[in-house]
Amino acid sequence: MPRTRKPVVPGWFDQDAADFRLLGTRCRACGSVFFPREDSFCRNPGCAGDELDEVPLSRRGTVWSYTDGRYRPPAPYVSDPDAPWQPYTLVAVELAAERMVVLGQAAPGVTVDGLTVGAEVELVPGVLHEDAEHIWTTWYWQPVAAAAPEAS
Ligand SMILES: [Zn+2]
Repeated sequence: MPRTRKPVVPGWFDQDAADFRLLGTRCRACGSVFFPREDSFCRNPGCAGDELDEVPLSRRGTVWSYTDGRYRPPAPYVSDPDAPWQPYTLVAVELAAERMVVLGQAAPGVTVDGLTVGAEVELVPGVLHEDAEHIWTTWYWQPVAAAAPEAS
């Protein structure tokens, strides 16, 4: 039986979008943008707005901070509690347009040695975990390769 591709958190991104983005919401009254998405009321204390529209967030941003994770995060993180824990790299990224800081894992193979504060990264789709029935999709932050001249 084919396994179903499912996002690790419903509504935070469209796993099949050609233009892969995180999805936030924007208040119609004051323009505040929220991620994780806020769908019921505006969290701006000076705003009584309760109509929020889904908005795709910036695909690129800059590294605000980073570390590596050596423990198993709690739900909604999906992982097999019986499998040995694999450390991963966690990046806090300031989004280019929104200036919000969004967490995510670095793309597989990217370690803290490959990151610096202020470096440009972009959002890429990926797979967090696979089990018998599902392929759990997520987002990763991938360093944007500097346009370095080829060594001759
Ligand atoms: Zn508002």
